[in-house]
Amino acid sequence: IDTLVYAIHEEPWPANTAAPYAFIAHTLVTLSETRSRIVIINTLTNCLRTLLRYNPSSLLPALYLLSNTLSPPYSPIELGIGSSVISKAIQHVSGLTPAALKRLYNASGDPGDVAFEAKSNLRTLVPHPPLCITAVYDSLIKIANVKGQGANKQKQTIVEKLLVAAKGEEVRFLVRTLSMNLRVGAVRTSILTALSRAMVLTPPSNMSTPLSIDSSYYTNPNLLAAVKPLSTDSKRKVADESRDRVLAKFSLAESLVKKVFVQHPNYDHIVAGLFEGGIPLHPTLGSPTRSLDEIYDRLGDLSFTAEFKYDGQRAQIHGSKDKDGQVFVRIFSRHLEDMTSKYPDIVSLVKCVFASSPDLQCFIMDAEIVAIDPAHGSLKSFQELSNRARKDVNIQDVKVAVCVFAFDLMLLNGEILLERPFRERRSLLRVNFPPQIPKEQGAARLDQVDSFDSEEGRGHVEDFWMKAVESRCEGLMIKLLDSGEVPEEFSLQKDKVKKKPLPATYEPDKRTSAWLKLKKDYVLSIGDSLDLVPIGAWHGNGRKAGWWSPILLAVRESTTGDLVAVCKCMSGFSDVFYREMKSRFPEDSDTCSRLPQWECITGGFDPDVYFKPREVWEIRGADVTLSPVSLAAMGLVSQTRGLSLRFPRFIRVRDDKSIEHASTSEFLADMWRGQQGKVKDDQACGADD
Ligand code: ATP
Repeated sequence: IDTLVYAIHEEPWPANTAAPYAFIAHTLVTLSETRSRIVIINTLTNCLRTLLRYNPSSLLPALYLLSNTLSPPYSPIELGIGSSVISKAIQHVSGLTPAALKRLYNASGDPGDVAFEAKSNLRTLVPHPPLCITAVYDSLIKIANVKGQGANKQKQTIVEKLLVAAKGEEVRFLVRTLSMNLRVGAVRTSILTALSRAMVLTPPSNMSTPLSIDSSYYTNPNLLAAVKPLSTDSKRKVADESRDRVLAKFSLAESLVKKVFVQHPNYDHIVAGLFEGGIPLHPTLGSPTRSLDEIYDRLGDLSFTAEFKYDGQRAQIHGSKDKDGQVFVRIFSRHLEDMTSKYPDIVSLVKCVFASSPDLQCFIMDAEIVAIDPAHGSLKSFQELSNRARKDVNIQDVKVAVCVFAFDLMLLNGEILLERPFRERRSLLRVNFPPQIPKEQGAARLDQVDSFDSEEGRGHVEDFWMKAVESRCEGLMIKLLDSGEVPEEFSLQKDKVKKKPLPATYEPDKRTSAWLKLKKDYVLSIGDSLDLVPIGAWHGNGRKAGWWSPILLAVRESTTGDLVAVCKCMSGFSDVFYREMKSRFPEDSDTCSRLPQWECITGGFDPDVYFKPREVWEIRGADVTLSPVSLAAMGLVSQTRGLSLRFPRFIRVRDDKSIEHASTSEFLADMWRGQQGKVKDDQACGADD
């Protein structure tokens, strides 16, 4: 930490002007001159801090330029520019003959160096205004977007404009960027490390709850002392303490940012999250099971708790309090959308929680928001909750009262709890967040989940299950309390079963086997619902003329992300829904086309129109069948046939899920296998009887 160059220069470019591209070029020059990881990280950290302080809107394009990408890896934007376009542009701008240019290429081999040399002797008569970071990024996007006839010529024109305006090292790094080879040692992890350190050291001024760490820290004089070079021993002691704290903040910020990035590699969202304060984590998900027996088999002898699976909306609640006592609250959906403005009553609840616990500084909790009867707190259905307005709700207008059932705690007072076993997280949750029925007008309730621990007597888990069946909840969530080892496969010879470790830690973005869900519907044998994407439809007949019916639904291929048609659905829709559906997907619009233009795999289905995939629907079916028409899950259970859903029925639109959260072909195949298992079990039981 002593070697970090903390001081950033004041006003590195004229105040209130956009950050110049020369600043990125200069950073890249510095990076290209070293192989030291420390220097690389320090240089990047200071580069990003300077942008954060003097021109935050350049931060995102700078991250893309430094990493030589234009977009997240999962939706790549390609420049689509060949070396000949670049050479032609260099030649045109520099005025060199092809032979002279060839000599330069032979001498260095790097197009950036060639361009630098070619332009170095050129005098420009009319000075060009300096290139700025955002303009360079925008030009690259423009290049990527040019398609069709004459594209190369148009791309060349944009490159030439950039080259004419570029000066000195800008020329070298622009061309290296265009050639997709920066030749610097800045790799993704260094950029993420630098980004998190920059955020710790120079948080943007509008960041209310930076990384969910208490914000008072950033104005702490100790930190300011630590960031200056240490000169005398007398200062060292004070600085040593603050140094530890800075290092702790670094490691917290780095682990958060990196964890988020590996699961959600998108600088746009991460930077937006950092600015807004509080990065939400992708939630842990549960694995479906069919019976308590299956749960016992899967968890072996380990202790677990059974919790009510409430039927509401999942919420990740971030709360923090600054040194003046001001409370910041953000509420994220399962899909990480910010829904703070939908729940002013929960914001008010969190304020009450802070008011009643003076030692509480910040937290991130996982919870289910459930509609309740305000008089006695009894549960209401999900439908009631979905009647609430979505945005900018005034607390006075809240008609549907809610209760927050907190079931997990991921961060408490600056400490990340993800690696702690569930038993510890739960106990911190229970101690720090006791039930509250706030006196505050309109505030939501807070309650602990109804639960039963297997240690209280496994035999009584059944009773608890019956209680769940009779109540207004979806079933049970069974959660492992402590990390341990579980049977690798089910076997009748229990002593010969191989074991595998199963952690009881919080596993962001995983469908973990340490959380098992047992839905009433499963056990009552209708099967789990699927989350499918509408990708096409046929023109309706009779009463449904003028509407889309049936509708073609797709699962997501887990490996490629392709959407693959699985079944036609024509039941469960109301007339109102059909009407709205038609307005969301009007014929011959940008969401509905007669030609297949959104790259979905329709197999043997031949719909009249194709929809732009943009919604996820919960669908329930009678069972999963082998199908000669569907290509879904082809190869997973049969080499010649795909899987389809019999008697699919629409349940609801899952606004909280995006296409990436749609059920996968793997999930469908698992359902089919589960069903086969059940058939066999039933047959076996029959034989025994
Ligand atoms: P589903 O479609 O069944 O709601 P999902 O894909 O949204 O499932 P799962 O992991 O399968 O998510 O089921 C867990 C969901 O159940 C959570 O997302 C949460 O919204 C809800 N839930 C209700 N009560 C609990 C609880 N006690 N613990 C965990 N999750 C709960």
